[in-house]
Amino acid sequence: MTRDAESGYPYEVCGVMVGKGDTVTHFRKCANLVADDKSETAFKKTGDIDSNRLKDRYELDPRSYIEADSWARENGLEILGIYHSHPDHPSVPSETDRQVASPEWAYIIFSVNRGEFSDARIWCIDEQSFQFEERKFEIVKDPLEEMKKSGATQP
Ligand SMILES: [Zn+2]
Repeated sequence: MTRDAESGYPYEVCGVMVGKGDTVTHFRKCANLVADDKSETAFKKTGDIDSNRLKDRYELDPRSYIEADSWARENGLEILGIYHSHPDHPSVPSETDRQVASPEWAYIIFSVNRGEFSDARIWCIDEQSFQFEERKFEIVKDPLEEMKKSGATQP
């Protein structure tokens, strides 16, 4: 997954997190309509405010979203949230991220500096204040096993 974020550099990559309950078991990469639609010149001018803003834009291709969603259902899982990368920016949500966020999902942001993965943080939007709050998470070795153990299948 981090390699996926690195390979997309300097563009943002995005996709969905699939799993059950609180456990993410899979990452499914989705097409980024903004990056696919890029005008080369817009990204070449780094350091320029406008190109920085462009770099924090992603738009999940609805077709890949639907594909991921049906894949998740077929496997008894569901979409838990959305991930995207921040090339050369910290793993903190931007104003753009906040505007497009939905309270039903968790957002994980991968920070990629000069093409190398640096860190990841998870954010959820508060339904009342509509501000992002950071969530703690832990990495489990075998999420599917972990899920069975904790009996997370029942709400
Ligand atoms: Zn962002």
